[in-house]
Amino acid sequence: MASRTCWKCGNVAHLTPIKGSASIDQKILRAEVMGAFRCDACQALSIARATGLPGNQDPLAWLAGKKNVEWLPQPPRVIPAKLFPDVPAAIASAASEAYRCRQVGNANRAAILMARSVIEATAKDKGITTGPLISKIDQMHDRRLIRPDVRNGAHEVRHFGNDMAHGGFVQDVSPQDADMVLALMDAVLADVYQSPALVAKAKAARETREQLNATLAAAAAQGKQLTLGLSPQMQALLLQFQATKPQALPRPENDPPAAGSALLSQSASRRGARIRHDLRVYLAAWQPRLPDPSFSSPALEKRLRTKRGTALA
Ligand SMILES: [Zn+2]
Repeated sequence: MASRTCWKCGNVAHLTPIKGSASIDQKILRAEVMGAFRCDACQALSIARATGLPGNQDPLAWLAGKKNVEWLPQPPRVIPAKLFPDVPAAIASAASEAYRCRQVGNANRAAILMARSVIEATAKDKGITTGPLISKIDQMHDRRLIRPDVRNGAHEVRHFGNDMAHGGFVQDVSPQDADMVLALMDAVLADVYQSPALVAKAKAARETREQLNATLAAAAAQGKQLTLGLSPQMQALLLQFQATKPQALPRPENDPPAAGSALLSQSASRRGARIRHDLRVYLAAWQPRLPDPSFSSPALEKRLRTKRGTALA
């Protein structure tokens, strides 16, 4: 029984041996055995090759039962696409394509040309549209979009790309050349898009932290009791719930207590048990005032009804 990923259709398919296709090359100690197999899914042919001692066995059956068999051709290697987060989609897709040229087809000239285009498109995206690429790169530097060494790197990509674009195919481009050009392209994208995006994320995270801390400090100053050991986020959420008056809550038929349910379900930790308890007591106290209490989740409603009995007792 020979099953493998078919090189042609990509299915893990059963391969049927083709009668009479076996070849045995008897060496001094062992034999090299080959045989053809047909994919049951797409009918494509594969060749199995192994060395060993098939003895009197049918060589195809021996191959089909053997573990260390080399299959030819091999299925194409699947290389995950290189992604460029925070880079505009059109430019990111061209940059990924430059990598695909290099990795999939070893198409090094194409990779270099793509890298050059990516740098030009980056300048255009930043509103730099005049002059040849040499001046666009310098303008990106003058506008402090790229650092001096990254500018120099971008010029190297330009030189390489110019050779390709103007028919300079005399010298072969090595994979190492292409890798270097791609790394220089990456540096441009990092300076123009990715580093600023990272800084913006860090800044937003810091501002959220500061805001939370200020909220908690204000609550503590008002004499509100803070729960020790809770994360600032959970603490602030709890305070918010404690501060909301029951009457101010939306009527359940329009908007079930989604925030409460969400918090109930997300508080899975031991610390969360405390919040769950507070919330249940809180929601239970709120529920009887509603004209038609109907929660979206019957299970939640049942739990709350039970809790209400204990909480209001
Ligand atoms: Zn197949």
